[in-house]
Amino acid sequence: MTKLAICPGSFDPVTFGHLDIIERASKVFDHVIVAVFHNEGKTPLFNTNERMALLKESTAHLNNVSIDSHGGLLMDYAREKSACAVVRGLRAVSDFEYELQITSMNRKLNKDVETFFIMSNNKYSFLSSSMVKEVAKYDANVSDLVPTCVEKALKAKFNRG
Ligand code: ADP
Repeated sequence: MTKLAICPGSFDPVTFGHLDIIERASKVFDHVIVAVFHNEGKTPLFNTNERMALLKESTAHLNNVSIDSHGGLLMDYAREKSACAVVRGLRAVSDFEYELQITSMNRKLNKDVETFFIMSNNKYSFLSSSMVKEVAKYDANVSDLVPTCVEKALKAKFNRG
């Protein structure tokens, strides 16, 4: 049976921190779907199609990874895809409380799907999409934080292309 995992998130935009988690998950599971979700607490800079396009380009080298999006509940999506797992990344302690809340709710909604956490690579522990957007807005160099396609897209968004 194919072991399929979902890496859900906003990916607004994808960073090397996300890619590190996606690559490591792709080594453990047969197939990984990176799914772009809408996070009620966040107003996105990139629309869903833009976020998906950047993810597609950044994961083109991973042949068991595909990109999708979903507008509803993660656990309904997981059921629809017959996924056995959800993979999330854990950075500093600050991620923990939030992830604990979501994971216990998700378990209530769908007991057949296990959530796995991959600890962030030390060099990306303090890297977030919000931080990247914040500094890119002021034309800071983000080449060591995001793939080239994202760097270009940020420049275009902030009219610095
Ligand atoms: P969400 O809005 O669902 O938190 P994000 O795009 O912010 O979506 O994050 C998606 C997933 O990637 C989350 O599990 C998050 O913890 C993880 N993640 C984000 N940045 C990093 C990073 N620098 N290192 C490891 N994991 C990360």
